[in-house]
Parts: sequence; C-alpha cells; structure tokens
Amino acid sequence: MTVSSKMRAFNEKSSWIRRMFEEGARMKAEFGADRVFDFSLGNPDVPPPPEFDAALREVAAETGPGVHGYMPNGGYPWVREALAEQVSAEQGAAVSAGEVLMTCGAAGALNVVMKALLDPGDEVIVLAPFFVEYHFYVDNHGGVARVVNCDDEFQPDLEAIRAAINERTRALIVNSPNNPSGQVYDQATMNALGSLLEEEGQRHGTTIVLLMDEPYRSILFDGHAAASTLQASRNAIVLSSWSKGLSLAGERIGYLAVNPAIDDKAALLDALTLANRILGFVNAPALMQRVVARLPNVTVDSGIYARRRDLFRGILDRAGFDYRLPGGAFYFFPRTPIEDDVAFCRLLQEQRILAVPGRGFGTPGHIRLAFSVPDAVIERSEEGFLAAMRACR
Ligand code: PLP
Repeated sequence: MTVSSKMRAFNEKSSWIRRMFEEGARMKAEFGADRVFDFSLGNPDVPPPPEFDAALREVAAETGPGVHGYMPNGGYPWVREALAEQVSAEQGAAVSAGEVLMTCGAAGALNVVMKALLDPGDEVIVLAPFFVEYHFYVDNHGGVARVVNCDDEFQPDLEAIRAAINERTRALIVNSPNNPSGQVYDQATMNALGSLLEEEGQRHGTTIVLLMDEPYRSILFDGHAAASTLQASRNAIVLSSWSKGLSLAGERIGYLAVNPAIDDKAALLDALTLANRILGFVNAPALMQRVVARLPNVTVDSGIYARRRDLFRGILDRAGFDYRLPGGAFYFFPRTPIEDDVAFCRLLQEQRILAVPGRGFGTPGHIRLAFSVPDAVIERSEEGFLAAMRACR
C-alpha cells in the first residue's frame, strides 16, 4: 500500500469541510453559482485594503543583491523589529525582535511551536468546539491532543481543563475570537487560564504553555476587545497571521511571539527557529514579510463582517435558531433543531445551503455558518433556512 493507514484515517477524519466544498462545487455546476448559498468555507472574500496594494507595488519594485535570497530562519531582523513593536503595543508587554518569529501563516506557527515543545506522548489540551487542524498539528510532532469541552456559552471550562492536566501536559491551545463559535475570551478569562496553568505546572513540576491562536484578532464586534495573553501568563506564546485581518490567506504569512519571561527562553527560541527551518518552511515568504512590516495596524474593515453578522442574525432569528451571538471572527455556530447535525445539513442542502456539521469541530448538534460571503448571498438564503426549519417541525 502506498499511503499510510494513519493518513488514510486522517483523510476520513478531516473530510467534513472538504466534503461540503466538493458538494458545493457540484451544486454550483448544476444550479449556477448564484443559486447556491455556500457558508461552508472560512475564506475571506473582502479584498485587502488599498494600503496593501501600494505596499506590494513598492516591495515588488525593490531590486539588488540578496533581495530574493535566504535570510535568517526567523525572518528579516528589521521586519521582526517592526512586528515586536506592534505586538508590544497590542499585548502591553515589552517584546523584542528576538522574541518574534515570522512564520508561514498561523498554521506554520502552530507546527513550529508543537515541534519545539513536544516529545512523543506529550499532551496538548484542545477546547471543543475546535479548529480541526489542531489534532493533526499535535500529531505531526508526536503529541496527543486531549479534548476538553467548553461550557454552554462556548467559554473555557476551567475545572474541566484542570481535570485534564497531568504530568505530560505541555500546552493548552486557545483561539479567540473563535472558529467556529465566534466567541471572544475576555481578560479575566485569560488571566484565570494563566493562573490555572501556572498552578498546575507547579503541582506537576512542569511548564504548561498557554498558546493563543489569534488570526481573527482584528475582527471584533460590539466593542469587544482582544485580551492580552502575554499579560495573562508568563509561559505564554501568541501566534497569528494576516490571513483574515488583511485577507491574505493564500500568501501564508504569520508570526509568533513568546513572552520575554517564559521558562527556558533561549533554548525555546533556538528550537522554534530550527523548527521553522527543518519543517521545510526555511523562512516565511520574503516578499510578504516586507509588505506586512510596512502595514502596522492596517486591517480590512471589520464593520463589513459586523454588517453581515447582523444580516445573518435577523435571518436566524426569524427562522427560530438557537445560537450565541458571535463577538468576533466570521462564524455562527447555532444548535441544530434536530439532534443529527449531518441530517440537518442534508435538509439545508435541499435548499442549496451549505453548512458544516458541528461534529467536524468536535461538537455535534450544531452547524457552522461562515459569513465571509457577500451580503447578497446571506440575504437570498433566508427562504431556504425558513424551509429547512419548517421541515423539522
Ligand atoms: N487557527 C484558526 C482558528 C483558523 O481558523 C485558521 C484558519 O482558518 C488557522 C489557525 C490557520 O490560519 P493561517 O491560514 O494563517 O495558517
């Protein structure tokens, strides 16, 4: 057999979003793209702002020796300087260039961190509902993902997390604003998580890293603010990307920043840098590093997503869905009116609506609806949602 049994099994496990994607392509060919309401993919459709186009042109015009050459594995020193300044302001902590690494998106950063932290059999706590790729990233580096359910409001359940920690626990991954729940963790929650990991680390004689995955950091609604993870925990790493904030998901540009006071810092930074190299990334894309360094604090207008959320909210209310209002990112994660989320997705599909079953995120009985689509798609989907709900009564 050419393909490992492990990869065969992974393919099966990872297939919900892909299945919906393939189904969407088939339906668009059959009915026409404008008659299919595809909420299955979290691929930002809002174009990057004009400042991005200008910076890209400027950078593309640069010539000379070494412009396209190798660089230090952690990224251009001056780009890391610029980013350290931005992260320091965001986090309210003095982060220096040496504590920042440029990565191939948030996904690259997560893999680099896992590679640096894990020995075979080490555990990483993942909160459900989760971004399904966490499982693969943990496994890539010999670790074991331990799933802990969030509470009914999709907030971390501190006592359940405490109960899941043991001497093999190396990290807790949190994601706020959250994919798929859209919920935001406030500073008090982050502080409580930081204290919990510190206490449990001391009890077990280990370091448990608080790992914040925040690619949706700039997409916040209703006055929600992004918390500081570096203030919440000494043993914290934050990682992010420009995939959502600048709609650059295909450009694979991201970063990670470690708390200057983290345990074993010098060895950790060496390990992270080497991981960036030997995982085959070598370094983050050169052109994009030079572009994003010119654009501190520039983001797409999150008001566009806020408007879409409100449009969708009206439809979900009129259709009678039970959901928690997203405070950020671009996903609704409503309960399904029948227990079987896959069966409900089929009912939606009959209305040419594509959603992802909650079981793909470790939380059956829900669906994920991505509102990274034009307003008109949301508006025209209302009849279909009403009809699918009627079919359940
Ligand atoms: N983390 C979460 C929660 C995500 O939703 C995504 C992408 O959708 C990623 C990480 C990966 O981001 P990137 O495309 O920057 O690698």
